[in-house]
Amino acid sequence: MHNKIKNIVTALIKKYDTRNPYELADFLDVILIEIPLGSIAGMYKYINRNKVIFINSSLNYNEKIIVLSHELGHAMLHSKDNCYFMKNKTLMLCSKIERQANIFASELLIPDNLFNKYVGLSLEEISKREYIPMELIKLKIDSMLKFF
Ligand SMILES: [Zn+2]
Repeated sequence: MHNKIKNIVTALIKKYDTRNPYELADFLDVILIEIPLGSIAGMYKYINRNKVIFINSSLNYNEKIIVLSHELGHAMLHSKDNCYFMKNKTLMLCSKIERQANIFASELLIPDNLFNKYVGLSLEEISKREYIPMELIKLKIDSMLKFF
């Protein structure tokens, strides 16, 4: 499954020439709505055959990029399910589809050569500098260990 998700993300990046989830959402006709959502960071809903992502407007830009990438994973991989992403239970790997959405986000946001830029730094340090949560960094490392 990891391999399949990586291939889907690689094809999207190649086709649309961007890793930016805002640009991809636009190209993929995903409707994006930013509104206050309380303790929910984001959610994906399938409404009248439309793919709709809600993002909590109170998040900062870097947080929105992470949440949007995750929700975009649901839109691409689980288009008919509805999913919530809770703010305080950040990126929990509780279910299969949540893990798959995180794999999608990690492949979208982390290019294979990112780690070359940071030789000698710890993963925690790279996570801080790139504003990418450790969970996603670890998923990316898993994938690179599998495929190289
Ligand atoms: Zn989710």
